Amino acid sequence: MNQVCLNNKLFGIAVSKGIANGKAFVIKTRENDFSHFADNSKLELSRFLDAIDKFEKDNEEKAFRLNEKERKILLGHTAMVKDPYVFDSIKKEIENKKTAEKAVFDVFEEYIKLFENSNDKITIERCDDIKDVRNGIIEILQNKNTKVSGIGYNSVVVVKELTPSLISSLDREKVVAVISENGSETSHSAILARTLEIPSILSVKSATEIIKDGDTLIVDTENSQITINPSKNEIIECEKKKEKIKAENEKIKKYLTLPCLTKDSKRISIYSNAGTFFDVERGIKVNTEGVGLFRTEFLYMDRETPITEEEQFQIYKKCVTALKGKPLTIRTLDIGGDKNVKSLDLKKEENPFLGFRAIRFCLNRDDVFIPQLTAILKASAYGKIRIMLPLVTTANEILSAKEKIECVKMTLSKKKVDFDSNIEVGIMVETPSAAISAEKLIKYCDFFSIGTNDLVQYIMAVDRGNKDVKYLYSPLEPAVIKAIKHISDCARNQNKEVGMCGEQATDKTMIPLLVSLLDEFSVNPAFLLKTKYRIAKYTTDFSKWLVNEALKCDTKAEIENLVKTTSQSQKL
Ligand code: PEP
Ligand code: MG
Repeated sequence: MNQVCLNNKLFGIAVSKGIANGKAFVIKTRENDFSHFADNSKLELSRFLDAIDKFEKDNEEKAFRLNEKERKILLGHTAMVKDPYVFDSIKKEIENKKTAEKAVFDVFEEYIKLFENSNDKITIERCDDIKDVRNGIIEILQNKNTKVSGIGYNSVVVVKELTPSLISSLDREKVVAVISENGSETSHSAILARTLEIPSILSVKSATEIIKDGDTLIVDTENSQITINPSKNEIIECEKKKEKIKAENEKIKKYLTLPCLTKDSKRISIYSNAGTFFDVERGIKVNTEGVGLFRTEFLYMDRETPITEEEQFQIYKKCVTALKGKPLTIRTLDIGGDKNVKSLDLKKEENPFLGFRAIRFCLNRDDVFIPQLTAILKASAYGKIRIMLPLVTTANEILSAKEKIECVKMTLSKKKVDFDSNIEVGIMVETPSAAISAEKLIKYCDFFSIGTNDLVQYIMAVDRGNKDVKYLYSPLEPAVIKAIKHISDCARNQNKEVGMCGEQATDKTMIPLLVSLLDEFSVNPAFLLKTKYRIAKYTTDFSKWLVNEALKCDTKAEIENLVKTTSQSQKL
C-alpha cells in the first residue's frame, strides 16, 4: 500500500457533509487517443458544430435540475465554447487540417496553461471548468459515453478530476458519496456537491490509484476520512453513525415550527445567510427569522460591467419583500482577498487579504459605494433592511461610511424618494483591531455580527484556504474564544445586539459556548434547523460557566475536551 494510505485510510478535504458506505466506482482519466490530422476539413467542421450543439442541449438538460447559481455554472460552460475567440480559434485549427478533437484539445490547452500560471486561486480553480468543457466536447466527438452511465446502486464515485458536469450528471439515487483527487472547498464542484447534498471528500492524493473498482468504502466527512475495505466493526460503527444522523434529522424536523429557545427558554434570533434571492427563499422555507448576512459580492461577479443601482435595487426589493417584515441584513460590497470581481478592475496585490478590500475599497470608490447605498436605502422603503459594513478596522471607517449614508439620504429626500430614515447600521467584527477595540466601535454601531471565517484567519494569522496551516484554523483556539467573549461583552454593555454569521455559528462544539454570548445566529439555511436544535440543548447558565472555564484553558485541545466532556450532561 502506498505511503499516502495509512492503515487503509485516506484523507482529504471534506466539502459536503455526511457519512456513507458503498462500493467504489472508479473513473480513470479519459485518454485522448484520437487522430491528430484529417484531410476533410469541411467534415471536421461539421462534426465540431454538431458536437457543440449536443453539448449545449446536454448542459441545458442537466441545468434543469439545479438552482439558479449552479445552473449559471453549467450554462457558463456553453458560453465558454461559444465565445467567438475560442470558436474562431478552433475553426482555424480545423482549417489547418487538424481533426475536430485535436483542434478542441489544443485551443483549450492554451487557456488551461494560461489559467494554471495565474497567481489567483479562483482563476486556477477555473481550470477544472475549462478541462470539463474540453473533455465533454471531445467525448461527444468520439461518441463515448462516460462510464457514469453504468453506475450501480450504493456507489461511491472515485475520480481523478471532479468536474461540475460530472457531479451534476450523477444519479443521486445511486451515488452515496464522491471522492476526488482534485478540488477545494470553494471550487464549483464543491458548491454543486453541497447543493446536491452528496457527502464528498476532495483533494485525496492518488485516490484513483489506491482505490480499486468494487472496493468497499466508508466515506466519513466528520474526520475527512475514507476507509478502504473496512473491518466488520468499522462497518458497524458506520451504520451506527448513519442511524444517529437519520434519527437527528427526524428530530430536527419539529424545529421548523418551534421558536429558537435555549434550554432555559431564553429567546435567540435565528437568521439565515444568503448570496442570491434563491438563498433567501431557501431560508424562508425553513422559517428563518430574517437574513443575517446577505453577501452582495456575488451580484458583481461573473459579469463584464458592474451591476447598476437599479439592478441592485430590484434584487434587494425582491428579497426584502419576500421576507415580509423580517430583517434583511445587507453587507456592503466585500471584495478583494479571495473574492475577485473582474468588472471592477481590481489591482493585483502582493497581499490581497491585507490589502485594498471590502470597506477600504468602498470608501475610496464612490462610483461603486454610492450606487450600492442608494439601492439599499431605496429598497428599505419595502421592509426592514439593515446595513452591515465588512472588514472594519477603525471607528473612522464607520464614521466615513455613515457620512456617505447620510449624503445618500439627503439626495433621496430632495428627490422625494421613500426610504427608512432610521435604517440600522452595524459592522462585521472580523479583524483583530475591531475585536480589541470593540468597546470603542460599538458606540457608532446599532449591532455587531462576528465574522468568524475571517476573524479566525486574522487572529491566528492563517490563510483560511491553505491546507498546510489548516490545523491552526479553529474557532476553539483560546485567543479566538477570548476575542468572541470580549466582543460580546462590549456590545451588551451598551445594550446592542451581537450575532455571528461565520460558518462557526453552526459548529456543534462552539454552540454550547455561543449560547450565552450571542443574541443572534446567522447560518446557512441547510443548517438552520440543526442549529436551533443544538441551541435548545443548553441553558444560559451552563453556557456562561463553560465560557469561564474555557477562558482558563491554555490550548484548543483543552477547550475541546472541556466542551465535549461537560456538555453531555446538558443534553435534552
Ligand atoms: C466571515 O468572515 O465570517 C464572513 C461571514 O464573511 P465571508 O465569509 O464572506 O468573508
Ligand atoms: Mg468575512
